[in-house]
Amino acid sequence: MPVRRIRRAAVAAVAAPLLALSVTACGGDGDSNSNDAKVNTDASFAADTTMAKLNQAGAVTVGTKFDQPLFGLKNLQGVPEGFDVEIAKIVAAGLGVNPDKIKWVESVSANREPFIQQGRVDMVAATYTMNDKRKKVVDFAGPYYIAGQDIMVKKGNPLAIKGPKDLAGKRTCSVEGSTPAQNMRETYPQAKLVLFDVYSKCADALKNGQVDAVTTDNVILLGLVSKDKAAFEVVGKPFTKEPYGIGVKQGDAAFCGFINDTLRKAFADGRWTKAWDDTAGTVAGAAPPPPALGDCQ
Ligand code: GLU
Repeated sequence: MPVRRIRRAAVAAVAAPLLALSVTACGGDGDSNSNDAKVNTDASFAADTTMAKLNQAGAVTVGTKFDQPLFGLKNLQGVPEGFDVEIAKIVAAGLGVNPDKIKWVESVSANREPFIQQGRVDMVAATYTMNDKRKKVVDFAGPYYIAGQDIMVKKGNPLAIKGPKDLAGKRTCSVEGSTPAQNMRETYPQAKLVLFDVYSKCADALKNGQVDAVTTDNVILLGLVSKDKAAFEVVGKPFTKEPYGIGVKQGDAAFCGFINDTLRKAFADGRWTKAWDDTAGTVAGAAPPPPALGDCQ
């Protein structure tokens, strides 16, 4: 008996600091957890739905970015922060799942469809453009924001790049499996496309002169500039529309519809605006009007 008692005490001694650590992790980033209080503790869902399954499990697995400031950036506690993260927390709250029960899985651009298809994540919120090609393999709730492809160059724009046509012959960095990379290949094939798996590597390559420009969504680029204003600037003339959706398994119309309903409520009650203001809005300015939601098709 004494042995067991000692063991329990030892477990408690280990558990206590862990608990303290996780509390710090939640509290440490201040306002970005402002939606935590709105968890729907009375949520109940029709049996056999994804919502019921996640609600009963009290947990949800979300694919997001880990290296994109303002949208999904891992903090020092190892927890991602940003607008996508806040949107996922709003959906989790609607499911009755606490934010600290969200399992975050890094989903780089090329991994998003496979991770959804394989069931490695329940949903993806990761600067994820809704488009017809992707809709062949996954479904999208949303959009919850509309970005546009833009170009980031070295501070002072030494090569005088004003738009995508000026990228002809220039080493232009983007990310494998992204819509900007696809757009460059199809519409601006004269650019010398250099592809990495994540945008932070493109920023490094631009900084050390391995590439001449980085192209992706304007708000992603604004986030990269915000971390290194002395090194970079954004051209500031978006040339595509990138509606951000939440990817879910194809054919799960009930879950997709639930996410749209949750977004609709968050658009109306100020949670969406607050999520924006606390994250991307700190750099990108006031929230635009929320976009019109699609029909999960
Ligand atoms: N929104 C674009 C996409 O979904 C670019 C950003 C990204 O790669 O995450 O491909």
